[in-house]
Amino acid sequence: MSSVPISRLSACRRINAYVRTEDDTWDIKTSVGSTALFVAAARALEAQKPDPAAVDPYAEVFCRAVGGEWADLLDGNAPEHPLNTEFGDHFVNFQGVRTNYFDVYFQAAAADGVRQMVLLAAGLDSRGYRLAWREGTVIFELDQPQVLEFKREALAQHGAAPSAERREVAVDLRHDWPTALRDSGFDPAKPSAWIAEGLLIYLPATTQHQLFSGIDALAAPGSHVAVEEAVPLEPDTFQAKKEEERAAGNEDKFFSLVYNEQHAPAHEWFGVRGWRTVPTPLPDQLRALGRPVPEPGSEAGAMIGNISLVSAIKK
Ligand code: SAM
Repeated sequence: MSSVPISRLSACRRINAYVRTEDDTWDIKTSVGSTALFVAAARALEAQKPDPAAVDPYAEVFCRAVGGEWADLLDGNAPEHPLNTEFGDHFVNFQGVRTNYFDVYFQAAAADGVRQMVLLAAGLDSRGYRLAWREGTVIFELDQPQVLEFKREALAQHGAAPSAERREVAVDLRHDWPTALRDSGFDPAKPSAWIAEGLLIYLPATTQHQLFSGIDALAAPGSHVAVEEAVPLEPDTFQAKKEEERAAGNEDKFFSLVYNEQHAPAHEWFGVRGWRTVPTPLPDQLRALGRPVPEPGSEAGAMIGNISLVSAIKK
């Protein structure tokens, strides 16, 4: 390894930029980190609507902190941006109702007396700043170090302060995150509320299994969990999508970042382990909030029809 010239190594990295590896890392503008910015931009667009399903005022702060196409998008100056397409319109609706779902979920967990909240793959989730948390609430935010750093600095520069005690746990969720969480003061003897929003597709199936097992092991009775999950595409369809994306020069945008694997549907996995689960297909959630459901044969319809939001309470 040490005998390979650095120039060769960086060339390899450029050529293979779209290949996920076991220990890959990223910041907010690269690889999986950029997906956090993409969904934040969708939330910022949702907040501009006259009837938003959720308002995240900090999503705009992140877009403006990065600038370029992300600021242009919010100013209506990025007509070519993927969020400015028919697919993008549905994606923004999706993010609006998804944000609403997890906000309502946390409110219910807080009303149930839970005071430890765990954001797995927190990304640019600003709930630690924008929701009104009850006295004594601690929010644990897990993600890669550079993603958490960007969020902290952008919000500090904006003058925003957390609305609860917020603890960053800079860790890769493919590694020993339960130890890192406990080392940050998480108490497994007390009930907790967990979310995995926009995460599972970026983890291989074995890691999804470890993630669920870690939650189950650390969750005291009375704990809550909510996850977003997607049924994988047929392998041939997935491969074709990856190639399409590469041919368009967008190889680090989406299909090359996801694993297209599902270990087990969350409602079944948690259900057989003593959790009371409620799965909600995303199209139902869109209809419930008065948003259109895209045609199943369309690009957006194929994505949205495969997604479910699942919440559960440990008995
Ligand atoms: N949950 C946030 C939201 O909905 O706004 C962020 C979702 S974003 C689509 C995906 C996030 O997963 C990114 O912030 C990324 O850094 C994080 N992520 C994916 N794989 C991860 C891993 N192995 N370890 C830590 N974070 C990971």
